[in-house]
Amino acid sequence: MPILMPICEGWVRCSLHPGEILCPVCKSRHVIQYGHKWRTFKTTSVGRKHVELAVHIPRLFCRNCGAIRQANLDFADPKKHYTRSLERFVIDLCRVMTIADAAQLTGLSWDTVKDIDKSYLKNKYQSVSLASVHYIAIDEVYLGRKRKFITIVMDLETGQVIHVGKGKGKDALKGLWKRLKRCKANIRAVATDMASGYMSVVMEKLPCADLVLDHFHLVK
Ligand SMILES: [Zn+2]
Repeated sequence: MPILMPICEGWVRCSLHPGEILCPVCKSRHVIQYGHKWRTFKTTSVGRKHVELAVHIPRLFCRNCGAIRQANLDFADPKKHYTRSLERFVIDLCRVMTIADAAQLTGLSWDTVKDIDKSYLKNKYQSVSLASVHYIAIDEVYLGRKRKFITIVMDLETGQVIHVGKGKGKDALKGLWKRLKRCKANIRAVATDMASGYMSVVMEKLPCADLVLDHFHLVK
């Protein structure tokens, strides 16, 4: 647990416990502090107040590795400006409210909330095993002028979304073929719109699957 000390309203100073200071690579405690830097992270609110952490991050010289590195933080990804607990909170909020409401409640920007939710959903879909998927539908969905098209691939037996790709056509299905192969999925039929640009890539990647050109019939 890091050491926390409130400094003024909405701000908490945070430094690593001496026991947490170790080389991020070899985990050795034979390290010498070699300067530091301050970083700020938004974290979960206390009541309605937004809270930011001012974090003292030591730079360490590891005697074992002979290299200088920044200490690891277990409560936040150093490349992000919010803590893991706030990220988890945002993911839960997005299940029950709009992105704009979640942004207002947490003090994060709309774009940050959107990015957190998007990467959560992406990981969720990518970790779904496709071994038992046999019938899929590929559809392009128009989201408006700004965001244009996305491509959604659905398991027709369970209704579960198994892939979401940016844009439409062949490129939007990148990643799907590898996952199907890795899971040894036996795809028997693929439903897609005849006018869409998916037919040729489906025939190339899944030569044994039937191509169904109106999946509404298949669903019924
Ligand atoms: Zn080391």
